[in-house]
Amino acid sequence: MTMALPATHRLGELSWTQVKELAEQDPIILLPIGAVEQHGPHLPIHEDSIVAEWVADKLAKENGCYVAPALNYGHSGTFRGYNGNLSLSQATLRNVTYEIIEALVQSGFRRIIIVDNNGGNVGPVTGAGLDARRDFGVLIGHLYPWQLGYALMRDVYDDPAKAYGHGAEPEHSAMLAMFPEQVQSDLAVAGGLESADGWTPTSYTEAAIPGHDVRGTVFWDFSEVSVTGCTGDVSLGSAKTGEIWIERVIGFCSAYIQEYDRNTSVK
Ligand SMILES: [Zn+2]
Repeated sequence: MTMALPATHRLGELSWTQVKELAEQDPIILLPIGAVEQHGPHLPIHEDSIVAEWVADKLAKENGCYVAPALNYGHSGTFRGYNGNLSLSQATLRNVTYEIIEALVQSGFRRIIIVDNNGGNVGPVTGAGLDARRDFGVLIGHLYPWQLGYALMRDVYDDPAKAYGHGAEPEHSAMLAMFPEQVQSDLAVAGGLESADGWTPTSYTEAAIPGHDVRGTVFWDFSEVSVTGCTGDVSLGSAKTGEIWIERVIGFCSAYIQEYDRNTSVK
């Protein structure tokens, strides 16, 4: 006998018997993964986590998916020089992600999309997803809202290269649209990169090499090249721009979910 499931898109709100019944319907499960790391003096350290979960909730409601309880810690190896960097190692994040996937598979789910919102997570999460493909045969999807925002928002700014940055656009605006009460824009200070030990940084992993247009890669801690933790133009943040971010990022992610659904449904 099947009973109607409660009107929720959150997997954690179901009982085990309801999870069993849900799994038989072969739904898409969204797994949010965030990070706890600095984003400049004006943004909260749990930003990546709350945005991952906000995006997953909205996507689940709009596309009929379920959101698994979030993993709110990630890997932030590049921000160790700032307070509040509550980072897992890459190996731990890979293992936790892999074991959550394994447990979801054991609960009867096979369609899983990770909503991962931190650059430092991508390597370990990719490893977990590929190992899950090998070991369980499941096809893991991956959505990275912050990175999608960079790709989808370029035409909104006069000079995206100057506007974009860690703690600046478009994340500052997106936060003003989603969590205005957690943004302290008055504390924002102009970001930028400083010379480190004779190097001329062009990004936090790249330096100018004299006589060449091609950049060279070096592994500084971000704190060695940025006092504030910010790059990009922090003065451009606005909730209005953030609404554009939401519309475009959610729009792309919904199209992705529909494509994933089409290609993973049992025919
Ligand atoms: Zn981040």
